[in-house]
Amino acid sequence: MPHVRAHVGLGGNLGDTERTLAAGVHALAALPDARVRGVSRLYATAPVGVTDQAEFRNAVVALDVPAGPDPETGALALLLALKGIERAFGRQARERWGPRELDLDLLSFGSHRLHVERLIAARSHDPARGGGVQWLEVPHPSAAERLFVLAPLAELAPDLIPPGWTGTVDEARLRRIEVEGSAAVRPVGRWSAADGGWLPDEVSAPDELARPHGRA
Ligand code: ADP
Ligand code: MG
Repeated sequence: MPHVRAHVGLGGNLGDTERTLAAGVHALAALPDARVRGVSRLYATAPVGVTDQAEFRNAVVALDVPAGPDPETGALALLLALKGIERAFGRQARERWGPRELDLDLLSFGSHRLHVERLIAARSHDPARGGGVQWLEVPHPSAAERLFVLAPLAELAPDLIPPGWTGTVDEARLRRIEVEGSAAVRPVGRWSAADGGWLPDEVSAPDELARPHGRA
């Protein structure tokens, strides 16, 4: 079956976040017929939206997954799998943008632009438990405005131009640094496949983060 390169954003700020995110990477790798193609550094990031909560950890995974019979079905299957992993890691329905153990966002699905309004059949039967899939938009609508997504995504796919965007991921990252400042996201670990987790990163100089990635 043909495959599609997807990018999945991971985030969390409750419990042993670094461990949860690493376990999240392993759960993605264990999805049927999926292959992890890259794992970004781990970032410590300032909360966005609800700001009086603990710092977040964020990372991005490049994942090849079955394309499915059509892009909508393939992407929805992946989104359902992501929601299942979130639930397995204890995510409860809480306030939007509030604290969570593990948030998995589908950032991109090949070069497809998808907008699925409402998925009644796929909704969680018990809304109080959360984790239901209500709609799907790909590329993820707020990815372009979040440095905590752009910084790790730009490590894996600097030259990607997601459909609907005006430039590359790395250009968006550099623009966003101008707005948020490079201190808003701080790399704290480098992925080690051998260890199955992130190893502490040597402190990166701010000007290193401000330079373009990928092809110049
Ligand atoms: P947050 O916006 O804080 O990530 P949730 O993770 O609870 O909030 O997601 C809320 C809803 O976003 C989900 O029910 C899901 O249907 C929807 N959604 C739409 N597009 C996407 C996407 N690309 N990735 C993940 N969830 C999405
Ligand atoms: Mg989410």
